[in-house]
Amino acid sequence: MRSVAIVGANLAGGRAVEALRQAGFDGRITLIGEEPWRPYERPPLSKEVLWDPANVPDNFFLQNEAWYDDNRIDMRLGTRAEAVDLAAGGVRLSGGELVAADKVLLATGGHARKLNLAGADCANVHYLRTRDDAARMALDLLEGARIVIVGMGVIGAEVAASAIKLGCDVTAVEPLAAPMERALGQRFGHWLGEEHRKRGVKTHFSRGVTGFKFAEGRVSAVELDDGALIPCDAVVVGVGIVPATSLALDAGLAVNNGIIVDRRCQTSNPVVFAAGDVAEQDGFFGGRFRQETYQNAADQAQAAAMAMLEREVDYCRPMWYWSDQFDLNIQFSGQIPVQAEVVLRGDMESNAFVAFFLSGGTINGMLTVNRAPDMGIGKRLVERRVKASAAQLADADVSLRDVLKQAS
Ligand code: NAD
Repeated sequence: MRSVAIVGANLAGGRAVEALRQAGFDGRITLIGEEPWRPYERPPLSKEVLWDPANVPDNFFLQNEAWYDDNRIDMRLGTRAEAVDLAAGGVRLSGGELVAADKVLLATGGHARKLNLAGADCANVHYLRTRDDAARMALDLLEGARIVIVGMGVIGAEVAASAIKLGCDVTAVEPLAAPMERALGQRFGHWLGEEHRKRGVKTHFSRGVTGFKFAEGRVSAVELDDGALIPCDAVVVGVGIVPATSLALDAGLAVNNGIIVDRRCQTSNPVVFAAGDVAEQDGFFGGRFRQETYQNAADQAQAAAMAMLEREVDYCRPMWYWSDQFDLNIQFSGQIPVQAEVVLRGDMESNAFVAFFLSGGTINGMLTVNRAPDMGIGKRLVERRVKASAAQLADADVSLRDVLKQAS
């Protein structure tokens, strides 16, 4: 392999570039991204960037600009890739230029899903995916502003917490019974909903949005399916992402809910690889999934880079993510099995606890709230499919390190 083109200049694309050079690949690397920025961190977008958009944190970018020069990365930022042109042997850019490449990595991620309602693209209806989205949103998160959040997944819940911090009057609408319910399950989703309420978020759970009212070209109220009308100054929509699969589809690659890849991150065409939010791969607990997590974007992209270099790769990891909301650090690893046995360590009242989700005695999932150090071990308990008794796990005097040791 003499040349690689990577489409998507964010976490996955950025980590793939770094991994290729660290592994000693000396050929040409072209990094193509439609945003004008070099690869940056998305976690601050719902937090620090909203709190203080003029002062993005020092470590906002994955690498400083000089790194890409020093490593001879051909950066094509602010540039759309129009096609993976397999016949011509490369990636066709918006201006018509062909970036010749022996191998292509698609790290195209996804786009914020738009609400299917009239007015869903008004200037005061915000979505959050990019740095520019966050900067625009910040202009409306003013002290006293009435903000309606539609969808209480990770984006909705994190932005709700930031908006409260900024002194906004926040109302959250979510069709499921609790925030982040799909990620946390009902019991812990309900706990999180209570934490949002206690800190001032007005909640309308198990409720849908049926329409908007307008004044002077802006949304002035949000209408719910129970007839309630919530006046607002701005709306934040966080209803999931649509994976950016069109390049793969047009190139005739196998696509389902994402670009289908094997455990080497290879698509149905051997010269094209995919990683990050857009890639659908074997799940650790079976089935095939796209993982929309930071850690997966970073790790899967490194795996893809190694596979492109024809190193041995067998990537299949359980999910791990974290979310910071108010004074709550929430982390989750694995999955919540159907009919899970749930074991608590610590008490939920104190907001410092661990929950284990067992299936047939095996730890399939683990949640920590303000117990980040436990997650270091927890990830390994899940990844090694450790079996443990409920009594051991519930007993705070039994160290998780010992549980891990016993199992191995
Ligand atoms: P999500 O899938 O986490 O949540 C979407 C929420 O919207 C769900 O609660 C769903 O029930 C609700 N919803 C769906 N349709 C709706 C509708 N028509 N009206 C109202 N609500 C509706 O997606 P997200 O929160 O938009 O996040 C998008 C992406 O950003 C994901 O990839 C996510 O992983 C990522 N992200 C991650 C983190 C983190 O890991 N800490 C933080 C922010 C964003």
